[in-house]
Amino acid sequence: MIVVMKPGASPAQIEHVFDKVKEMGYQVHPIYGEQRTVVACVGDERGKSRLQALEMIDGVESVVPILKPYKLAGTDWKREPTTITLKELKPGDPPLVIGAGSFVVMAGPCSVEGEEQILRSAEQVKQAGARILRGGAYKPRSSPYSFQGLEEEGLKLLARARERTGLYVITEVVTPSDIDLVAAYADILQIGARNMQNFALLKEVGKVHKPILLKRGMASTLKDLLLSAEYIMSQGNYDVILCERGIRTFEDYTRNTCDISAVPALHELSHLPVIVDPSHGTGVRSLVIPIAKAAVAAGADGLIVEVHPKPEEAFSDGAQSLEPGQFIELMAWVRKLVQLEGRSL
Ligand code: PEP
Ligand code: MN
Repeated sequence: MIVVMKPGASPAQIEHVFDKVKEMGYQVHPIYGEQRTVVACVGDERGKSRLQALEMIDGVESVVPILKPYKLAGTDWKREPTTITLKELKPGDPPLVIGAGSFVVMAGPCSVEGEEQILRSAEQVKQAGARILRGGAYKPRSSPYSFQGLEEEGLKLLARARERTGLYVITEVVTPSDIDLVAAYADILQIGARNMQNFALLKEVGKVHKPILLKRGMASTLKDLLLSAEYIMSQGNYDVILCERGIRTFEDYTRNTCDISAVPALHELSHLPVIVDPSHGTGVRSLVIPIAKAAVAAGADGLIVEVHPKPEEAFSDGAQSLEPGQFIELMAWVRKLVQLEGRSL
């Protein structure tokens, strides 16, 4: 349910509503708008009709149900697009804003493989215009015999690359017990497709004060994805970025089928930023630039792209990784398309 406060409701009246909602066993998620405060009350769906009685309280204008199952990720609670701000890395540098008109590119290798590889990758993607460095230190591989990542050593190398280049760092976390360690090094935590419905992991990253990139599971609907975002948000972390990274279909020419329609659909259903991963979305290097262009045109708020100094030598996902020169070409396209739409890069 959403409690809509009257314009000009006093802080004491708002506080009183919070107390009542909590007494009934529901969580309080307020948005303080310019005109009025809107309070989402979420919790056990059974018995939520009791919240209707809040309409009698001073300062309350109305109590309305949220019809969608994803209460905080949907547009009933919040209509304006969410922006996520990464604070400046060095005093005086500009912060980085994700969502609502600005376009962000995250790029780098699938895995952190060693110091030279990650530093060279970081310099190359920075030179081409990326703002965020990607690289896995903990890899959720389909086979237990595939490279599993450098773990903490990989995190340290990512931090060194950030220091060297001024790029922010995004990296995946696969286990609740690693969250604090990964959050100590990363600016954004990635939840991979295979873990999109690892609810224990989602709840734990919901308690972290870092943005979360949530990748769509390979057999998940948009509703599933938004419900997974809800798991994170219900713990108080509202900084969630949704990522379309391709789903499994009967088509086997590509590794996955990149669902471009997910971008405008998610923008209709949710206020959260939406980015596209054309690398896992296709699995084929030659298809990455065309799908990246389609993502921009479809209104994506950004891209996450795999780029490797020598893709043929990559420990993972070489076949879908761009060569540095191809990434320069991709960025030139992105710049043109984003400008055409009056957005900023
Ligand atoms: C990755 O980003 O390298 C990755 C493993 O992605 P996904 O979870 O989308 O497969
Ligand atoms: Mn990968």
